[in-house]
Amino acid sequence: MKKTLKDVNVSNKTVLVRVDFNVPIKDGVITDDNRIRAALPTINYLIEKNSKVVLFSHLSRIKEEADKAKKSLRPIAEKLEELLGKKVFFVDQTRGKELENSINNLKNGEVLLFENTRFEDVKDNEVVKYESKNNEELGKYWASLGDLFVNDAFGTAHRKHASNVGIASNISESCVGFLVQKELEMLAKGIDNPEHPFIAIIGGAKVSDKIGVIDNLLTKADKIIIGGGMAYTFFKAQGHSIGKSLCEEDKVELAKSYLEKSNGKIVLPVDSATNNEFKDSPANFAGLDLPEDQMGLDIGPKSIELFQDLLKGAKTVAWNGPMGVFEFEHYKKGTVGVCEAIANLKDAFTLIGGGDSAAAAIQLGYKDKFTHISTGGGASLEYMEGKVLPGIDIIQNK
Ligand code: AMP
Repeated sequence: MKKTLKDVNVSNKTVLVRVDFNVPIKDGVITDDNRIRAALPTINYLIEKNSKVVLFSHLSRIKEEADKAKKSLRPIAEKLEELLGKKVFFVDQTRGKELENSINNLKNGEVLLFENTRFEDVKDNEVVKYESKNNEELGKYWASLGDLFVNDAFGTAHRKHASNVGIASNISESCVGFLVQKELEMLAKGIDNPEHPFIAIIGGAKVSDKIGVIDNLLTKADKIIIGGGMAYTFFKAQGHSIGKSLCEEDKVELAKSYLEKSNGKIVLPVDSATNNEFKDSPANFAGLDLPEDQMGLDIGPKSIELFQDLLKGAKTVAWNGPMGVFEFEHYKKGTVGVCEAIANLKDAFTLIGGGDSAAAAIQLGYKDKFTHISTGGGASLEYMEGKVLPGIDIIQNK
């Protein structure tokens, strides 16, 4: 078990907190502040405990010097100040005397945010990736700025960067923040120690993106429902005609082997909503075999019914990936149907592994109907694959 905030003494200490403030910003205005709000419990706790709070985060990617003007954390400092109702000192540097002096001048209970950690990826127009390649000297330097490290950025936990792994390896004490603690508890309950029946629902465009998840969940779940574009590679493996649907030819054999070893655990759709090209016009419908000129863009009504039936009585459900092209009005029914079915389950532990399915559930107004919607797309996908997350692994154990 990883140390949490409650396991360490933070009072009167300079606490370095890696947060995930990677929020969408358009013309200098933050269009969705959920990630900032999600970090507030940890920040408020540290303020209450009289810590000197030093926050830092990445924002987007920095590929050249010119990117820096648009990727400053300054607007985030202003937003945070508003949300905390308290002064937030902003330093537009990632190292150097000004940053060091500002940290030294912080009083107990004060909050400072420094500039985008990925500014360290480009120096004088040269791509150096000090942050993203976990440059040793940078991790050591950042670690030297505080007494202890709190990782509360779940979204980057699957990355080995200087601002998480680098600092944690060079500081005497580390723990996870409240957001990461909750993610780990929920994912452990939903994936590692699920109550049965445990049903996993996997969708999205490509089999290749989800191979690891299928592999890992085949050993844990009672049923794995597969939908979305990736289902057609499985149909091809079964010898069905899939028309012009998405198919990864080099994964057909693998799909066949999964179907064989799954012993009926893998459940595929039984019909499709199709179109003759990739466009949002009214759907045609097909059974297991698609006409030559059609491509499958969503699961059909019989599949929705089948999946809804299978979900009844589930005690744990983990969902990752849409059932079709849910961005299209005419091809979102499968994703909506599955989302509704999970959301309406009584007495079940329901988990969404971030990314598109999380966005879909929130957009449809089901945010509060799931036990947990993960804040980290890539990180929760890797957790579902059974992989170790380096940003968490490096944190000290209790
Ligand atoms: P992923 O990021 O792998 O979860 O995939 C999500 C994307 O898959 C979404 O943008 C969907 O539009 C797309 N998708 C889902 N089903 C299909 C399909 N049958 N054909 C093409 N794209 C699909």
